[in-house]
Amino acid sequence: MSVIQVQRKPLSLAERTYIPQILSGMKTTMKHIVAKPVTVNYPEERPEIPPGYRGVPTLVRDPHGREKCVSCQLCEFVCPPKAIRITPGEIPADSPNAHVEKGPKEFEINMLRCIYCGLCQEVCPEEAIWLQNVYSSSGYTRAEMVNNKQKLYELGGTLPDTHLKWDKKKAAAEKH
Ligand code: SF4
Ligand code: SF4
Repeated sequence: MSVIQVQRKPLSLAERTYIPQILSGMKTTMKHIVAKPVTVNYPEERPEIPPGYRGVPTLVRDPHGREKCVSCQLCEFVCPPKAIRITPGEIPADSPNAHVEKGPKEFEINMLRCIYCGLCQEVCPEEAIWLQNVYSSSGYTRAEMVNNKQKLYELGGTLPDTHLKWDKKKAAAEKH
């Protein structure tokens, strides 16, 4: 096998001084000095979260403070890394929401497993689980990274319910 010797192109006088390369580097530096910064001084400054951002999954209540989740467990079933654990509970017969029958007794989302895919939100028939603008999730222990039902509702808050499904369901239940 023959060896091919590759001859290097000789450097010009300007190239030997490195002045063109230095000037090119300085030009790039100056361009970025005057350009608008793309970073923020986190955590003192917080980034602006665009609408539709998919942060930490949360549970939401309707404007009347009712739990939207009916504990159907579809989200638990669809979650790819099995981050959701639900213990369904029965709604007591004397509750004004008894017609809904079920609600979550326990609801946990393990944020060490969650991959923020949004499938839980997509599959939920009650629009009860939402990935909102919470992006900071940290803890000192593994247990702290499991969001329980109380924490999920604290993070989720209240979202409008345009379907009025609770009232419709109640009216339907009362008809029968
Ligand atoms: S966002 Fe995806 S991974 Fe996270 S809990 Fe929902 S379905 Fe599971
Ligand atoms: S959050 Fe939605 S999908 Fe998950 S159990 Fe509740 S109602 Fe079903």
